[in-house]
Amino acid sequence: MFACTGYAAESATAPLAPFSFQRRSPGPNDVQIDILYCGVCHSDIHTARGEWGNSVWPVCPGHEIVGRVSAVGGDVTKFKVGDLAGVGCMVDSCRECASCRDGLEQYCENGFTGTYNDPDKNMPGSRTYGGYSKVIVVDQDFVLRIPENLELAAVAPLLCAGITTYSPLRHWRVGPGQKVGIVGLGGLGHMALKLAHAMGAEVTLFTTSPNKAEDAKRLGAHRVVVSRDADAMAAETASFDFILDCVSADHDINAYLRLIKRDGTLCQVGAPEKPLAISAFSVIFPRRHFAGSLIGGIAETQEMLDFCGEHGITADIEMIAMDEINEAYERMIASDVKYRFVIDMATMPKAA
Ligand code: NAP
Ligand code: ZN
Ligand code: ZN
Repeated sequence: MFACTGYAAESATAPLAPFSFQRRSPGPNDVQIDILYCGVCHSDIHTARGEWGNSVWPVCPGHEIVGRVSAVGGDVTKFKVGDLAGVGCMVDSCRECASCRDGLEQYCENGFTGTYNDPDKNMPGSRTYGGYSKVIVVDQDFVLRIPENLELAAVAPLLCAGITTYSPLRHWRVGPGQKVGIVGLGGLGHMALKLAHAMGAEVTLFTTSPNKAEDAKRLGAHRVVVSRDADAMAAETASFDFILDCVSADHDINAYLRLIKRDGTLCQVGAPEKPLAISAFSVIFPRRHFAGSLIGGIAETQEMLDFCGEHGITADIEMIAMDEINEAYERMIASDVKYRFVIDMATMPKAA
């Protein structure tokens, strides 16, 4: 084991603050990564503040990790010291169940190990601690290769916001000739605009923030609808093949279900604290589907990174220092992020 420094919340109401903890020394299959950048996902806030009811403190968040390999175990074949590497939302799974065998580790029937806030199989009694830290040690099977042609800090958000939007867009075969809606222009929403545009769909952004309209068009939206405008929403009724809901807070889901065509799908990826109230009639007429999707498997995450490498796609980021994280959380809650905060890990205090 070795000592590592990070930033963690000690309770649901405590701000994030410097935190010292132990990481395992790399085992035969492990890759040790010096973290250079970590994206800030709204799930970090939900977890640090206990909004999903499953947090165990201290919570050291961060699952949009990029860095450089600083050590490898004897059986590691995928990486060598000095390589760029990425880690997303998972660091392990059972590898034996039907979902794991299908490359869908995110749906592991025995529960995957999250990058933070999960029991750590390798350090019994301890929890996993995430990417708001200097170093992480991860099994090579859960480490991703990073395209060399992209700006590294702007790649970090692909590891969660990128794959969480890519996976449902692919699963529902979004492409040319389809009318696709994206709800909420935050970290996930802005990646969804870029990816759906690159896949060839006609893309509409639904936003509560009229001042994001110009950015939305630059990011890939063909059209923008302000969701607080009832007339503008009514004009979109039953016209969408697919809508991806990326909203982090309580909102009226029926307002978006109404916009789906016969047999079309609204897929929920945003994970608000409170249950969403669905009117039965929103799905009865006209045979609409309401679905959900969780991040993506390891192979699909690699496919998404390679797709982004080919298409030159990265996140639009605002770089912050580690000690600006609490202010960044407040800005995200106020829907004021353009469009993903990324922590420059060089700003981490040397010792907690
Ligand atoms: P984010 O950057 O904070 O963006 C959320 C966006 O939602 C905001 O920018 C805003 O967009 C909209 N919004 C916020 N409050 C709203 C309200 N009261 N009513 C309507 N719209 C509102 O968050 P994120 O990191 O993209 O994450 C979004 C959600 O996805 C979170 O709940 C997160 O936990 C979840 N998530 C799920 C998965 C998964 O696997 N399913 C993975 C990662 C994250 P506008 O200003 O455009 O309205
Ligand atoms: Zn996330
Ligand atoms: Zn499994």
